Amino acid sequence: MSERIQIAIDGHSSTGKSTLAKALAKHLGILYLDSGAMYRAVALYQMRHNLNDQELIEQLDRVEVSFNAQNAICLNGVVVENEIRKMEVSNKVSGVAQIPEVRRKLVELQQKVPQSVVMDGRDIGTVVFPSARLKLFMTARTEIRAQRRYNELIAKGDKVSLEEVLENLKSRDFQDENRDTDPLRAAADAIYFDNSDLSLDQQLEKAIQLYQERV
Ligand code: C5P
Repeated sequence: MSERIQIAIDGHSSTGKSTLAKALAKHLGILYLDSGAMYRAVALYQMRHNLNDQELIEQLDRVEVSFNAQNAICLNGVVVENEIRKMEVSNKVSGVAQIPEVRRKLVELQQKVPQSVVMDGRDIGTVVFPSARLKLFMTARTEIRAQRRYNELIAKGDKVSLEEVLENLKSRDFQDENRDTDPLRAAADAIYFDNSDLSLDQQLEKAIQLYQERV
């Protein structure tokens, strides 16, 4: 069997991790997996069933998170791609991601991916794939991140304000960096990647170059 390639792309909220991860996976002809979507799906379950954290922990065995053949996130077998991107879920998700039982369950699933993969998230290079071939830690100026996320949400028809999006990013970054279990950190061997002033093509070119240096 050929070697499994693992590429980890971590960083703060809305730094364009998933856009670059998708493009890189496509270029390399391997799978892309959005670990944030998995945390969002669990947060959606908690919201739909109106559970507190303890109740969610007790029901975790009933929460089935998966990706279908089109790589869309599913909650108990039903595609929830649109629902998980809404602001209500964004406002909840970092709280859910602090629960150690939730992290354990999702990290286990992520580590079971049998094929080569580019995965983006917050703890991929530190916890999920500590020996990933390439680890990028993405950053971008906060106002740029907020504007990008705002544009995405508006394009989808969500009625949000730029201030609301900015506050959500700051609050998620704070919670992600300060939680006890697997906080957001750059792995010691991660490469900082600031994409504030880079187009997607420029980012992809740079990522491919960094990847090739590691083959
Ligand atoms: O990547 P995205 O912004 O969709 O992730 C949503 C939230 O899920 C993050 O703000 C973070 O709280 C949590 N998350 C995490 N660990 C990951 C991926 C996401 O804690 N590997």
